[in-house]
Amino acid sequence: MIVYMEAVMVNPKRALSRRNLLILGGAFVGSSGFALGSGAFRFQVGHDIVAGPSQIALSRSHLTNINEDCANPSQTPWVSEGPFYAPSTPLTGDLRPTNHGVQELRLAGRVFGPNCQPVAGAVLDFWQTDPSGVYDHFGYKFRGHQFTDAEGRYELLTLLPANYRFLGISRRRHIHLKIDASGYPFLTTQVFFPFGPDREVEDISFDPALVPSIVETSSRFIEARYDFIMGAR
Ligand code: FE
Repeated sequence: MIVYMEAVMVNPKRALSRRNLLILGGAFVGSSGFALGSGAFRFQVGHDIVAGPSQIALSRSHLTNINEDCANPSQTPWVSEGPFYAPSTPLTGDLRPTNHGVQELRLAGRVFGPNCQPVAGAVLDFWQTDPSGVYDHFGYKFRGHQFTDAEGRYELLTLLPANYRFLGISRRRHIHLKIDASGYPFLTTQVFFPFGPDREVEDISFDPALVPSIVETSSRFIEARYDFIMGAR
């Protein structure tokens, strides 16, 4: 039912345009030589980013190990896009507002092909609710896209989304994303965070294969890892 409901509610004008992303990707590639050389680009490999007021630094440099799943790679499951996607998101991996005062989430990992080869230059376009379970329908809060680096690495610094109900349907905490990688089938999916009371929420879209590994938790910070495996070309 949710698939049908969300399918009919998707506004085609808000559908992700591969062409637009390719344009964005071209702009990125075209400018990356300068950006990497100057250290100005946010996602330079091994370059720590000084984040917001909490001063948590982002770095992809630790994401060097190959996912154990690659011993038996299976394609990341598809999950419905839902009705809340917005195109033309900002190029950023840091979705945190300033002065939020709540627990932060770092989701990071790599994108692999079906034979465990890293996928460089893939576009990951994320969107999620705020910590109270509300989507931004008019702006780009908690929305942003980024590109994997040469090792297929990505990282997202954000706040933990909340569960919500929409048209009588319950959703567990989740982050949506689309992955557009040249030469691979387009992937739309979600990553779930069934923590605490969220475990009690019934969500027919929930898939335990889409729960990330929790690397570290504290009262201020959750670090999670999830590697995406694209389908065959
Ligand atoms: Fe959602």
